[in-house]
Amino acid sequence: MTEKTPKLREVLDGIPTYKPGRPAAADGPVAYKLSSNENPYPPLPGVMESALAAAGSFNRYPDMACTGLLNELAERFGIPVEHLATGTGSVGVAQSLVQSTAGPGDEVIYAWRSFEAYPIITRISGATPVQVPLTDGDVHDLDAMAEAITDRTRLIFVCNPNNPTGTAVRRAELERFLDRVPGDVLVVLDEAYKEFIRDPEVPDGLEIYRHRPNVCVLRTFSKAYGLAGLRVGFAVAHEPVAAALRKTAVPFGVSQLAQDAAVASLRSEDELLGRVGSLVCERNRVSQGLAGQGWTVPDSQANFVWLRLGARTAEFAEVCERAGVVVRPFPGEGVRVTIGETEANDLFLRAAELFRKEL
Ligand SMILES: *Cc1c(COP(=O)(O)O)cnc(C)c1O
Repeated sequence: MTEKTPKLREVLDGIPTYKPGRPAAADGPVAYKLSSNENPYPPLPGVMESALAAAGSFNRYPDMACTGLLNELAERFGIPVEHLATGTGSVGVAQSLVQSTAGPGDEVIYAWRSFEAYPIITRISGATPVQVPLTDGDVHDLDAMAEAITDRTRLIFVCNPNNPTGTAVRRAELERFLDRVPGDVLVVLDEAYKEFIRDPEVPDGLEIYRHRPNVCVLRTFSKAYGLAGLRVGFAVAHEPVAAALRKTAVPFGVSQLAQDAAVASLRSEDELLGRVGSLVCERNRVSQGLAGQGWTVPDSQANFVWLRLGARTAEFAEVCERAGVVVRPFPGEGVRVTIGETEANDLFLRAAELFRKEL
């Protein structure tokens, strides 16, 4: 008998596996996880209560249309419900966007280095990734991205601010870029870190999408809203993109727990944004501290900072870990460090200083 195994699609060969940020070792000294851009604050009281209430109905499927959450979002942002689509985190929505627009022979453009999910979801769809290097300042090279457009381009991701460098593109350059993109190419503004932006020149994607039918905005409850474990994100897009997202979404993907918690978070927004404000202060303190130690730190508009360490990336990550903070190394490139609890940020700053002195 011949040994047979099920035939899998060739595009799966060599797809990089998504690497989650490592947790802190359970048995080590005090250790903080600064490797996944999570929010260090626990869920707000109203969120816990709604979650506990939802637990009583776990024998039921969730509301597949996410009615309550979509209505809340529509009101909060002043957009029609038909322009909204939810998913299992904004990664889930991003995957639906690629599946809705690009297959074999099509191209998806994004900056590199950027969010590591982009190459994975592009290749799962069978489409070809077109990676455009960041500028020397670790910012999106929008001119080069516009020049990379061909008649096969179907989707372009603009991660703003960019994960893992924290840098953001500004209004004028983004508008100029969008003017160059053909109307039948979808531009996805991934704004996972929107709430942490303080540069007034960085635009709100929701203002841009209104007058550009080929622009889609991605938002998530995972970062500022602190609901990473519940997997809920959403897209704002014109028809027919939003309709395509509703078609390609995994049925019942967003649990009732996640929907209710997201609604409760939106209703506690003042408190949440206060927490975000504290994290932004900490980000600025950490960035200035690093600069004072002599590091070159790209201007971060997110809840993390980026150090381009090149060949010394792994070594730096080890020094941090010994100091009690787990960071996210991108071997050969650099280290991304999430802004966490004040004590964690202090430990990180001390490790960075130690490393610097030994240079
Ligand atoms: C964290 C992150 C997301 C959000 O992921 P979820 O699936 O919503 O948890 C999306 N885009 C970028 C760039 C991110 O860093």
